[in-house]
Amino acid sequence: MSLTNDVKSLALELGADLVGVAPIERFEGAPEFYHPQGLLPQTKSVISIAIRHLHGLLVPQKNWVENFPYQTYGYGWLSHIRLNSVAFEVSRFLEDQGYITCPYPSFCQGAGAAISNRHVAVAAGVAKFGWHNLAMTPKFGSKQRYVTVLTTAELEADPMIEDELCDFEECFKCVDACPADAISRDEAVTFEIAGQPVRMAKLDKGKCGTCHGGRGEGFKRIESRIHVTFTGGGHCGMCLIHCPKGTYAPR
Ligand code: SF4
Ligand code: SF4
Repeated sequence: MSLTNDVKSLALELGADLVGVAPIERFEGAPEFYHPQGLLPQTKSVISIAIRHLHGLLVPQKNWVENFPYQTYGYGWLSHIRLNSVAFEVSRFLEDQGYITCPYPSFCQGAGAAISNRHVAVAAGVAKFGWHNLAMTPKFGSKQRYVTVLTTAELEADPMIEDELCDFEECFKCVDACPADAISRDEAVTFEIAGQPVRMAKLDKGKCGTCHGGRGEGFKRIESRIHVTFTGGGHCGMCLIHCPKGTYAPR
């Protein structure tokens, strides 16, 4: 077994659903602030690890009944504890093999974060961006979260996903489902990851953040019962939940 296989096997044994590796060269051209070597200058490989959502905990969220299952198991616990725990143990394993390794927390995202776990997932061949700004995978569609591990080990790279996973211009279920009208139907943002073109909707992050936190205009459109059950920090997720993609669908 190669070191790469050992790392992937460990992550899967610890509960990961997907693991991929990007060589550091795939981050050439990334904004300086977001380059992995800004965090760990000796980084040679960047590992992306994903854990899927349970479909069952998305049901009460989708039906606007109760947000605690998604808020806890789909967001807080999944990001803050489970994914970070897997990344920590993978990092300990790599350091035991002699490689300096830095896990990057799953819940860190947005302007203040030095790494985008979603961009890493794309660079590592785990995911591809969809119109809603989320990273999608062939198996679970939009329904997983990610964590990142930076290491000085030179691991074997995974190929990036070539096929589009989103039905751009034909679907827009994420746009229709967004209670805050935060996802543009018409305006796109474009850039490249490792030379691969990326296109996604222009997202009003202010509207999304306000709605995601259980406050603001988005929630005024929702019936009174929801105001009671969707408390502050409600973690909306309607774009993720309504995206129909992914082959994995328990009955
Ligand atoms: S999380 Fe909610 S408010 Fe934010 S973009 Fe998705 S659907 Fe819209
Ligand atoms: S809901 Fe449709 S348009 Fe939105 S990301 Fe999913 S496949 Fe793409």
